[in-house]
Amino acid sequence: MAQHLGDSHRRFLQKMMVSGIIDDKKAKALHQFCCETHKTQYAPDKLDEFIETINSKLQPLFMQIRKGMSEENGQQFYALVNTAETEITRMSSEYADNELELFRKTMDLIVSSENGTASSTDILNSADMMITKKLKKSETEHLLTRLVSDKWLCEKRGEYTLSTRCIIEMEPYIRAMYQDQVKMCYICHSVAFQCQICDNPSCGIKIHRPCVARYFKGRTEPHCPSCDDFWPHEIPEVRGLHSQSKR
Ligand SMILES: [Zn+2]
Ligand SMILES: [Zn+2]
Repeated sequence: MAQHLGDSHRRFLQKMMVSGIIDDKKAKALHQFCCETHKTQYAPDKLDEFIETINSKLQPLFMQIRKGMSEENGQQFYALVNTAETEITRMSSEYADNELELFRKTMDLIVSSENGTASSTDILNSADMMITKKLKKSETEHLLTRLVSDKWLCEKRGEYTLSTRCIIEMEPYIRAMYQDQVKMCYICHSVAFQCQICDNPSCGIKIHRPCVARYFKGRTEPHCPSCDDFWPHEIPEVRGLHSQSKR
């Protein structure tokens, strides 16, 4: 089981501490680099075991390297997360109370939306209903820019989504806080925000777009994997997706 932590593991961890999050391609390259640099045995298909060894030593420090998927393109990521505090607590050293309140309001909007997004207009409107110190419009806009550059949110044409890092790190918090509202992806069982939803009102399962692409690939008549109704949404291209089995 838990192996001895060598220099190659330490170097990998140091890099993770600097980056916070890396995609699976970079993780694989880094794994190879660390093993070769420290002349330890390198097995390309043993990345997850390599990380497990690091995680076994991180556990007492309440840290963990966790794997997750980008809802955008299905790419796998590894993020170094803190398991001791809820994310919001950890953020409190960097953000003021009213800034955290606005972040929570943004999360509320994203979680309660159908497609996992919140528009800048809706966020600005919710800033008018703050309990803590109100934020001016310019302050809210500045805060949103900061949340994007700190990798908590992503922004595309005025629509905000939770970043991959945020979802990986906050999944336990999100499940606890929004247990009635948040839904899991029917295919990969992770929390699902940006996804397609079954039209059958008595079913209504959610599937991430990359999971849709993978699941329905090559099927001519897509049917809901839960209720078997016709799946009425456009099936995204698998192209550009990173297959999990390929190395
Ligand atoms: Zn999924
Ligand atoms: Zn269905």
